[in-house]
Amino acid sequence: MARRKLIAGNWKMNGLRTDSAALVSGLISRRAAESDFDAEMLVCPPFTLLDRVGQSLAGSPIALGAQDCHIEQTGAFTGDVSAAMIKDMGASYCIVGHSERRSGHHEANALIRAKADAALSVGLAAIVCVGESEPERRAGKACEVVCAQLSNSIPGGASPDTLVVAYEPIWAIGSGRIPTADEVVEIHSTLRRCLHGLLGGHASGVRILYGGSVKPSNAREFMLLPDVDGCLVGGASLSVDDFWAIALASQGLPA
Ligand code: PEP
Repeated sequence: MARRKLIAGNWKMNGLRTDSAALVSGLISRRAAESDFDAEMLVCPPFTLLDRVGQSLAGSPIALGAQDCHIEQTGAFTGDVSAAMIKDMGASYCIVGHSERRSGHHEANALIRAKADAALSVGLAAIVCVGESEPERRAGKACEVVCAQLSNSIPGGASPDTLVVAYEPIWAIGSGRIPTADEVVEIHSTLRRCLHGLLGGHASGVRILYGGSVKPSNAREFMLLPDVDGCLVGGASLSVDDFWAIALASQGLPA
């Protein structure tokens, strides 16, 4: 099954109103000027900018997503944001289980699955992140770890329209270090096999993104690998030039 590439930017806890406006308008104008471009683009700003960025993106082909959500849709959860609220901002995606939430907020697979279920229940697609730590990789456990994370954190009833998987080795995030092509291929094919066991026929349509120190200089190499259906970009998504160059590289188009 043909899978349309997805180039997703995770802004993390970055962006104020003024710099986000320049970033979004820069992306919209570059995307509009590139008629041969066929990948899906997504930006995931912090909650404070969802409304503003969503309004700027309205009518453009660039999608809006959030970086996390609560498992409930309303209620007494001070400081939290629900999937229904995110949907209300015009978003279509929600990242769950990013390693910075798994480690910094002690989020375990069961909670991540509940968040993904909450996202799907209001019509958002969930981007479920998995990835091994450096000690786990050194111990030869990377495949086992990501498969266990995947099996225990994807939402019930997931389909290619409602689920994206992002493989992000923790040691590659924000570090400038990247896995070898063989390492990426091994994990992505393992994840695909694991998805087949979980979702049967739906598995072949689910996109599996690579994330971790993706830059304009290495994006093309990742994107040519089998079972790499796009990328989740952190730091480089904060620059119009870099994020757009990564998007072009995903299509084999010159920057
Ligand atoms: C991320 O946080 O999802 C990420 C991949 O970060 P970076 O691209 O900065 O490594």
